[in-house]
Amino acid sequence: MLRPLLFFSVAGKLAAVILWTVKPMPWVGLGCFCGADLVILYHLLAPWGQWVCPAFMRFETPRKEIWLTIDDGPDETDTPQILDLLDAHRARATFFLIGERAARLPGLVAEILRRGHQVGHHTQTHPTRLFWCASSARVNAEIDEGLAALRTGGAAPKWFRPPVGIKNLYLAGALARRGLGCVGWNVRSHDFKSRNPEEVVARVMKEVAPGAIVLMHEGRGMDPRVRVHAISRLLAALAGRGFSCVVPEDGQLR
Ligand SMILES: [Zn+2]
Repeated sequence: MLRPLLFFSVAGKLAAVILWTVKPMPWVGLGCFCGADLVILYHLLAPWGQWVCPAFMRFETPRKEIWLTIDDGPDETDTPQILDLLDAHRARATFFLIGERAARLPGLVAEILRRGHQVGHHTQTHPTRLFWCASSARVNAEIDEGLAALRTGGAAPKWFRPPVGIKNLYLAGALARRGLGCVGWNVRSHDFKSRNPEEVVARVMKEVAPGAIVLMHEGRGMDPRVRVHAISRLLAALAGRGFSCVVPEDGQLR
């Protein structure tokens, strides 16, 4: 969808100029001039936007299964605890790791894999504010440096998650050239800004359904009352409702 949108963006600007010379109509001219740009901006900034860079948002399953995804690690304190919790619940998860943190903790990357989980790519530096307008060179560097860091821990990721779900005009092409797919989520816990693990769990359990992709976080940016505790309580709540945490096959993703 990106190329048609860019075409309409350019065509709209030309139409606005032509219209203005024929008969000035400010609102029509403004709509022509920036209508397509606003649509592009929406699909860049909205985590569920699909037209700039398509992302998988759920998976097909006939069973009560969810895909637990944990972003922003590895963390020397949280990751080992989370791995133990996953073991205790016989749960599998995908850890979307930040490259510069993985480079400092390659042993933890290897341990995630050794314990039967999956490692995904979550950029090299997690540039949240300006990723949407980053240059092609910056986007490529975030991906390549992150890949190199994850490889030092033995990971060969096939999934990429943009920081806070924000896309970039160059992202789809950069991922395709490296054989990476983009993964979003359809159940957001808001654990990162919460101070109450029960509130986090309640939010997830209200929305969870078979095939859900659940977004959780780890690391020191979180409130200590929520950090690890929310994942611990969520795993218990999911088990109580008969849900298992799996890593879906590629063909199941939608
Ligand atoms: Zn993140």
